[in-house]
This record gives sequence, C-alpha cells and structure tokens, in this order.
Amino acid sequence: MPDAPSLDLRAPIDAVPGVGPRRAAAFHALHITTVADLVRHLPMRHEFEAAESRIADTPVGVVASVRGEVSATRVSLRGKRRFEAVLMDHTGRLDVVWFNGLYLRERVQPGVVIRVQGKTGRFKGGLQMVNPRVEFLDASRDPAPGEERLRPVYPASEEVNSREIERAVARALPQALAQIDDHLPDEFRRQRELPPLRDAYRMMHAPANESEALAARRRLAYDELLLLQLGVQLKRSHQRRTQRAPALRWSPEIDRHIRERIPFTLTPSQEQVVREVAHDLQQNTPANRLIQGDVGAGKTVVALYAMLMAAASKRQAAIMAPTEILAEQHHASIARMLEGSSVRVAMLTGGASTAERADALRRAAAGEVDILVGTHALLTGEVRFRSLAVAVIDEQHRFGVHQRAALREKSDEPGTTPHVLVMTATPIPRTLSLTIFGDLDVSTIKGLPPGRIPVTTRLVGPDKREEVYAYVRERIERGEQAYIVVPAIEADSDAPEGPGRAPADLRSTMKRLEEGPLAGKRLAALHGRLKRETRENVMERFRLGKIDALVATTVIEVGVDIPNASVMIVEHAERFGLAQLHQLRGRVGRGARRSLCVLIGEPATEDAEARLQALAKATDGFVLAEKDLELRGPGELFGARQSGLAPFRVAAFPRDMDLLLMARRDAGAWIERSPALDRDDERLLRARLLRAHGQAVGLGDVA
Ligand code: ADP
Ligand code: MG
Repeated sequence: MPDAPSLDLRAPIDAVPGVGPRRAAAFHALHITTVADLVRHLPMRHEFEAAESRIADTPVGVVASVRGEVSATRVSLRGKRRFEAVLMDHTGRLDVVWFNGLYLRERVQPGVVIRVQGKTGRFKGGLQMVNPRVEFLDASRDPAPGEERLRPVYPASEEVNSREIERAVARALPQALAQIDDHLPDEFRRQRELPPLRDAYRMMHAPANESEALAARRRLAYDELLLLQLGVQLKRSHQRRTQRAPALRWSPEIDRHIRERIPFTLTPSQEQVVREVAHDLQQNTPANRLIQGDVGAGKTVVALYAMLMAAASKRQAAIMAPTEILAEQHHASIARMLEGSSVRVAMLTGGASTAERADALRRAAAGEVDILVGTHALLTGEVRFRSLAVAVIDEQHRFGVHQRAALREKSDEPGTTPHVLVMTATPIPRTLSLTIFGDLDVSTIKGLPPGRIPVTTRLVGPDKREEVYAYVRERIERGEQAYIVVPAIEADSDAPEGPGRAPADLRSTMKRLEEGPLAGKRLAALHGRLKRETRENVMERFRLGKIDALVATTVIEVGVDIPNASVMIVEHAERFGLAQLHQLRGRVGRGARRSLCVLIGEPATEDAEARLQALAKATDGFVLAEKDLELRGPGELFGARQSGLAPFRVAAFPRDMDLLLMARRDAGAWIERSPALDRDDERLLRARLLRAHGQAVGLGDVA
C-alpha cells in the first residue's frame, strides 16, 4: 500500500489516501479535520476477529471468519422470515442464513465479496453459518489478515463507518507515529510502567493482543488525568505565587461584633468552619474554599461571617445565588440582621429596573456598598467593585466552574483578587472533587442545627390525593403553612387529561385547590415568570403568615428558608430528580414543628420508583447523593455536565480511580519541582496541557 509522501500530522484529512476531498466532509463531521485528529480518534473498544480460513478447511462448530464471493441469494418469507446467501471461495461453498435479515438483500448480491464471522454448523451435509457478522470488502483495499486479531471499533457516523476509519488510520498511522513525541520523560514513564506515547497510539489502533490494548488504554487514560491535574495545580500554584487577596483583619472584637448580628448560637461544626474560613481570609493568598453541608445545615451564616469580615476591613463582599428568589431572600435576611448597623447592603438581579441597576452598579464601583447580593447578573461586564475582598457563590452546583473565575476578576483594587467561597448542599462525589474541583479546600458542616425535628416523608399514589389535601387543610387550620409544588407553570397540551388524573400545571392546580379541598384558604401562586415585585410580595406575605399555602414551581427548590412552613406536597413527584426532591423537602423541617413531606407520584419505571423510595427512606443528603450516583451513573451528575470541561475520552470512573490518584500525586510533585512548568524539557507537556485545558481550567494568564 503506497503511503502518501510525508503525511504531516497537521495535514488536512483529505491528504490521507483513500479519504480525499470527497470523503473529507464526512470525516469533518466527526471532528476529524487533520491527520492528528485521526490519530487521536480512538477506538471505543476492540473486537476479536478470527483468522480467515478457507471454506474447505473450516471445521464445524467453531467461530470462524470466512471470505468469499456471493454466488446466489434468496429471500424466504415462509415460517421465520430469512435471507439466505451462498458464499464461494476457491475451495468450497458456505451457506449463510440471516433470520430477519431482509435488510441485507440490497447489499448482499451475487458478485459481491464479503467476509462473515460466526459459528459454523452443518446443514444438509454442507457448511453453514447462521446470523454471522458481515463485512463488505473491497478486494483491492482489504488484504486478508493472516491471523486472528483485535479490531478497533471506532466512534462512527451514518456517513463514515468504523471500517472506513480503520482503513484511514491504517494508512496514516505509520507516518503519523514517527512524528509523535512523548511529553513524559523516559525515566518517569518507566517507573510507572507506562508505554511510550508512540507505542500507546499504535497499540490502541492496532493491538497485537489484549494486553497491548490494555497497556495503551492505561497510558492514554493516565495522560488525560495527569494533564488535568497538572492544569488545576499549575493554576493554583500560579495563583498562589502571583495573586494577592486582601488579608482581612480579625480580632476578638471584630468577632464579637459579627456574632452580635447572628440571632442564634453556632453549632460546633459551624464554629469549626467559621474558624477555617476566618483563617483563610486573614492570609494574603486568595482563599478558594468549598463549604458543603446538607440542605438546612446553616451555610448562609458562614458566608455572612466572611462577608462581615470584609466589611470590618472596609472592603466589599458579594454573594451570588442561582435564582432571583434566593437572592431576594438573602438580601432580605441579611438586611434584617444588619438593621441599624453601618453595613450597606444592596441587590443586583436580572429583574432589576434600569434605574435600580444603574444605581447598584455605581455604588458597587464607588465602594458605597459593603455587601452586594445578586444572581448571575453579578457576572456581567459592567459590574465592578472598588475593593472586592470576599466573593461567595451559593448553591455552586447550579453554576459552572467558569463563574468562579469570572467573579475573581471583578475587583478594581490593583493587584488583588477576592477570596472565594463556594457553597453547596450537593455533596461532590470524590472523583469530581479530585478533578475539576481539585483546587478547592473543603470544609464540611456536619449535621443540622439543634432542635430540628426530622421531616416525615410519605410516598403516596394519586388515589390518596384527596386524603392528603384534607390533612393539609387540617394543618393549615392549626396555623401551619404549606408548599405545594407542581412540575410546570402551564399545562402541557399533549398530556392526557383523563378522569382522576390531576393536572401537572400550576394554573389548574390552583383552581382545583381553591374550588376543592383548600377552599377558603389563602393560596398564592409563585413561579419564575411573575414580576419581581409580585414575587417579593408573595414571599414576604408567606413569611409573615398571611398566606396559608404557596402553590409553586421549583423556583422554591433551593435556599428558600421559612421556618413556619411545615408541609411540603410534591405533585407528580416522579418527574423530579432525587437531588431536586431532597432540596424541595429541605424547605420544611426548619422550625419547631414536626414537618411532613408528601410525594404524590405514579412512578412509571423501576428507577423512578427506586428514587422515590430512596427519598422516603433516607434524610441524609450525602447518603442520597450516593444513591443517585448508583441510579443514574456518574455521567449525569452535576458538575460533570455543566463544568465546561471536555469529558474524558479514555479515562472512566470508577474504573480508573487508581490512575487518578496516581496522576494527582504525580502532578503535585511535579508542580512542586517546577512551579511554572517552564523548563525546556517541559515544553511539549506544557503545549499539550494548554491545548487540552487552557480554556476550561482558565490557564490563559498562566501561559
Ligand atoms: P443552608 O445550609 O441550606 O443554606 P441556611 O443557611 O438557610 O441553610 O439555614 C437554615 C436555617 O437554619 C435558617 O433559618 C438559619 O437561620 C437556621 N440556622 C442556621 N444555623 C443555626 C444554628 N446554629 N442554630 C439555629 N438555627 C440555625
Ligand atoms: Mg443555602
């Protein structure tokens, strides 16, 4: 097979013989535009292929691979529908049958050369194969492989099949490999028993045996993990060396002043986290800390403590929440606690009027606001602070990793970046915390504040709905308040509206409740499309006990904190995820009364059923997160999707946990030896690192 002269790795894919301009577009659609892309297009797995044998030499009862020319075909519709073909080579005849194989008749025609692989049998004295795998061969391009082998199976498309990719790779590989340099030093590599990069690519695309395929995979997975770890740690080391955060003051007096504003005593666990945070903020290296604690654990007060430390040092703080409702609540509660103090609190959300917005922006930039509460709106370009010392991201799992970086850039104080705290109620699985969040220190608030009575969770079918609401009515009459959560604001027009089927939308639910079981009670609707004043007004009246039940969408899912509300009804609970339901349940059980959470649902699948059962059984968010992981698999987990990081191509979890730990250790030691990764022999590694993660990890300023 003639290799094209000097096939450069950077050459366009059309330069590969057999691809050419005609097939190029199809390869482009698979994100293969250069020879290098082709080499990096790795097989998903390998398939065993038996050595081809001549028909006359093929025994009965084994898996065999036979090539031959189709000499006749037949469709049989009697009995089981089947498609039959006769395959000939120069030694004999093989009968092939495909049950339900009628789709093959267009392509398997007399004169066509195919290869079939399957188990041989005997039929009317001759050799037969039933339902074999079939491949269409091009005699000039597909020489017979002499021996059994592992064949790569590539991610492919309608236009380009795995076989065509395999052919292109086979043509390009010999020349491409010669140009692949290793970014790992030989000694380093040998100590870890990793093959050279060049060999790894060869063994991945064309393994001689199973163990070669494994060795290749191990090397390439390790590389992926090492690069990410190096990226994260390089960034961190760079920040530590070059970025300065304002070292905030702390004294027993400051501490006392802050605590005067907190209307309760901190739990030992909160105390511990406050100590960790206060210690961080007194340093002039920017803090980068994750505070995790279950729903209702009391994370806000830790954030408040940090923000008041900023104010005590005459600097600013900001807290960003994922929803307007939560931002409004933070704003209201912080303002309430700071009433009569000199600390100035303001709010900035997308729903603000132009004038309000302009005013908040001006005051933040002028240093006339001490604490700015907001939503994503805080991230927009015009938002500047005179001296931002503490930036808090609440419910971090609702944001991506980029937001942290964006907030960091907001201070106009020369040479400084703020301390960053991120808070989450969704525990971060270990793999994620070691990868994308690898640069965070972690504090955990364990348990819940004292006096909390565990929420009773009930899972009921729709037939119990009337009973449930009769009971809600009773509790309302005893002075309690309820949330009733529905999946949608408006009716889904396709949804069947049969008798006995309750509507899943807010509007009809309101109507049904007002006219039925909750007639005469004070109900209000709450959802994301209401005007801000309306929403704030509703929340405030609910807080003051002037509304008995709030009929809401999931806008109340995160953060909302109204202790007197003690009943949570979730309609059509099967439509919500486990983490979401746990968050919703977390809205109650915050006061002195025994709270109740009723999930009204009709789980249609086993998974949905398992999800609801898990929630009814466990109240601990960490336990539920593991359950969630088990039910959904890691790919679905928060963070993985929204993090903005490319998913791993080779590494997979939990399988590669040991490689991850090794890569993490190695990266740490490496950065310690070479904090900027700028030695001559690191040039290649650095270039590959920047290409892989420069953007996602935010290495722009490191380069
Ligand atoms: P989350 O961790 O979910 O953000 P919050 O910060 O909203 O939780 O706190 C939940 C509720 O618990 C709030 O009403 C808060 O005032 C209250 N709380 C927090 N810490 C304590 C404490 N140590 N003692 C009593 N109540 C507390
Ligand atoms: Mg919170």
